[in-house]
Amino acid sequence: MTDLQDLYQELILDHGRRPRNFGKLEDANKTAEGYNPLCGDKIRVYVKVGDGVVEDIKFEGAGCAISTASASIMTDALKGKTRAESEQLFKAFHDLVTGHQESQTQDLGKLAVFSGVSEFPTRVKCATLSWHTLRAALSGEGEVVSTE
Ligand code: ZN
Repeated sequence: MTDLQDLYQELILDHGRRPRNFGKLEDANKTAEGYNPLCGDKIRVYVKVGDGVVEDIKFEGAGCAISTASASIMTDALKGKTRAESEQLFKAFHDLVTGHQESQTQDLGKLAVFSGVSEFPTRVKCATLSWHTLRAALSGEGEVVSTE
């Protein structure tokens, strides 16, 4: 278990330091902004949706290692997924970080590295900020989302 936790921590630190899909997506047709006042994390998610599929996704922002790593791994996980699949992943991820893993039916892949977050309630908002922001972008609300 310790080895697994070390591995998880390493992945989070790696994605926190060198986030994937970071930057502005010029041809995005959906975007939203998210803010977590508790920690100071800020994020903007850009999505290019075509035919109900997430064709491309990037993000910009500044935040703690958890929020940055979460956005980085999320964007990797969602490329090529349909909106319905994205929604399923959101639910599964939310269950994971809020400690409802028993309802887990989905293979979360790299997203599983955030399972330890459930032990730190204040960190749950850091981990879910990018997901809430993504949902706002997909639903076309396009406004600023706050975790508060
Ligand atoms: Zn944070």
